[in-house]
Amino acid sequence: MANVLPKLSPPLVHYFEDCVGCAACAPSCPYYYVDHKYAPVDKAEFLRQMLRSKYTLAGKLLGRVVGAKIPRTDAEWWEVMQYAYRCADCGHCYTTCPFGIDSGAMVRRLREALYNAGYAPPVLNELNRLEKSGEYVTRSKGLWEDFVKSAGVPVGKKGARVLLMVTLIDLLLSRDVVLNAVKILRAAGEDFTLPERPLGVAPPLGAVVGDRESLRAVVSDIISYMEGLSPQYVVLISGCYQYPYFRFEATDVLKRKFGFKVLHISELLYEYLKAGRLKLKKLGTSATLHDSCQLARRGGVVKEPREVLKAVVNYIEPKHGGLEAMCLGGGAGIALLAKDVREAIGKALGISAKLDVREEKFVEELEGDYGKASRKGVDELKKTGAEVVVATCPLALAALRASGLNAEHFVNVVASAVE
Ligand code: SF4
Ligand code: SF4
Repeated sequence: MANVLPKLSPPLVHYFEDCVGCAACAPSCPYYYVDHKYAPVDKAEFLRQMLRSKYTLAGKLLGRVVGAKIPRTDAEWWEVMQYAYRCADCGHCYTTCPFGIDSGAMVRRLREALYNAGYAPPVLNELNRLEKSGEYVTRSKGLWEDFVKSAGVPVGKKGARVLLMVTLIDLLLSRDVVLNAVKILRAAGEDFTLPERPLGVAPPLGAVVGDRESLRAVVSDIISYMEGLSPQYVVLISGCYQYPYFRFEATDVLKRKFGFKVLHISELLYEYLKAGRLKLKKLGTSATLHDSCQLARRGGVVKEPREVLKAVVNYIEPKHGGLEAMCLGGGAGIALLAKDVREAIGKALGISAKLDVREEKFVEELEGDYGKASRKGVDELKKTGAEVVVATCPLALAALRASGLNAEHFVNVVASAVE
């Protein structure tokens, strides 16, 4: 099959060639505990097989005999999809590999090969289409106008110091969190604004399904909008993959720097705290923190949410926090496939959540595995004995609540402590 493979880059060559197969990465993966066949090294192997086929002489000459293989049939591609969508791109295997192999990054490129060959979970594919075409904006117009009215904040104000980035998923799953963020920014006397429309469904969805054209188009559209307002800071309430994309990778995607800095709201609130801009009272509650993989491990934001929480609750550190945080398994779009989330999006955007039999089976099995993958992390948080588990991302919050934990978004906890 022609041209389904991603282009080689120096990091990808290293990930391709230097794995020694020691499996030291396996215990770090939440999906390894669902089934040992989902070890990071084994998921990345599917891409290695394809790369061998195209880029090595032995692979070209001897093919499957030397582990060089590009799927030929529909069934083979569907099998690859099973593996590629049991990866949350949490980065934990990267930090535990003695050779610095980022299997999550390999799986991301594997999804690109899948997408190029015409394979992506239909729900994510449709959301990507809506985001890429901009159709989500017209479909969510009424919802957005209603939200803006209730927020009572100027939208699209040029030159405001802070632009609060709100995606459609933020709005659908966490309207209360966005409104509480507005409350906190007001209490801090911040000069801020909201966008005139949601900035993506859960951008960039192209990165999740492996559609590079969509990734570039969506990032470009959102960054251009932000630049038009010239804020000093763009602030996210989500600690999911939006954070590393807009904070670090967008400059690489668009090959230029931007005139603003992207922050997670915990970083901004930490700055307020240091500057004495926020008066917070102690709540008398004990709380622990679930670090979002993208914010903590990929983004390095570990200290800030802790320092802010320590000012308002009796903080209990989980056994594995920060860079070692246990992934709940919902990253890289997996959490968007959960029934509740998918139906909420479908209803808001007027799209059908109907799937054919094979797709339904795929999504159901994946959703079941997602629930199993989150258990280790959930159990560890339970063991802290904390009254509340705090999350820095709306999708992680939904997963924690679905597991029966008393969980709350970081912003909501801080908002209830604002004097
Ligand atoms: S990715 Fe790293 S830890 Fe995993 S098998 Fe390969 S060398 Fe070992
Ligand atoms: S990035 Fe996370 S979910 Fe993906 S293979 Fe590595 S440890 Fe597993």
